Amino acid sequence: MASIAALEHEIGALGQEFHKWRMINVWKHLVNAGSENAATRIAGHHAVADVFSKGGKAKIEEGLTRMIGLQSKLAAEHGSSASKLYFHEGNALGKGIATIEVNAGGVLDRYFGFKAKLNHTDLLHPSEIMAPVGNWGGSVPWDESRQVAAICFEPLGMSDVAHGIANKTATGPGQEFWSRFEPRLKDIPGLMGPRVAAHEMGHAVHFQLSGTDKIHPEVAEIVSTMQEALFMKEMAKRIKNPQQSVALLSDQLNADVATVEQIGKLNFERNAYRYAEQHPGQVIPVTKLWREASGKILGNNISQAGEHAAMMDARLMLWDQYMYRPGYGSGYLVGWAAAPKLLEKLEADPAVFQETYRKLLAKGDSL
Ligand SMILES: [Zn+2]
Repeated sequence: MASIAALEHEIGALGQEFHKWRMINVWKHLVNAGSENAATRIAGHHAVADVFSKGGKAKIEEGLTRMIGLQSKLAAEHGSSASKLYFHEGNALGKGIATIEVNAGGVLDRYFGFKAKLNHTDLLHPSEIMAPVGNWGGSVPWDESRQVAAICFEPLGMSDVAHGIANKTATGPGQEFWSRFEPRLKDIPGLMGPRVAAHEMGHAVHFQLSGTDKIHPEVAEIVSTMQEALFMKEMAKRIKNPQQSVALLSDQLNADVATVEQIGKLNFERNAYRYAEQHPGQVIPVTKLWREASGKILGNNISQAGEHAAMMDARLMLWDQYMYRPGYGSGYLVGWAAAPKLLEKLEADPAVFQETYRKLLAKGDSL
């Protein structure tokens, strides 16, 4: 019997190796794929599709097949199965995610329909899924982005903690996380840059207050998504013209699309684990499973003609958590569902909320 520690070590090493590969080979193109400039954006999508077809697909197939083998062994050591541990099959959380899945399609259809109308087309080009609408007026300078990320903690009465981290004067797990992430955050274009900075600052403050960065995604992503909701409010104060107003709203909707798309990714992961159980020793047919799962979420609205299919396949490289933390996407969905309710409570009674919320954050995983 393999020891739990040895399996955990092997899983960690494989995940890290894949993450490193993706950062070196994919990240620079992914950043372009989110550009406000259409030509840069399309070139970015071409480049990502190219990496996928020239080695990326094989890398994912090989890595995921090995990873699923290891994760299944580890789950068995814990007397469980990976589906139970990571995909919330049959529990309340799984049911909640299924509810979002049933209802989200209508929201996506309307947003994509609006984008298609703007572009005088019926089906969107893959590069338009996350394309901004409106015009904020260029990227937000990094210095402003990191300050905004800290300012978004003002309504929660914790901006002292956040400013310390943003200015790199703190010590602790939150500061370490932020300092490690910062070089990457600086590269993200448009409003997505400061939005992601606000999100990651949510994690940083959470880690700092709880003294640990080992927090379940379903807890961690509530805090970070709450910061995105507060980011929306903060940026709304800075709007100077109608174009900026549209740009901010479209950025929020793009963030919503990215969250709902997690359902497709979760279904892909779960089906990959099932495939491995039913076909022991075989390589996971990554592209086939991905097309089936993501097609249900985005398929009706996005062109799959010719090279577009390759661009949609390559979306599998947008994320890499499936290589080190299967099922992570359910955390984003829980956060997405919880943030508006938290915001309501904050606005109803700020003083009580601030006190309770700070205590909860300090509890870390046991929140
Ligand atoms: Zn997060």
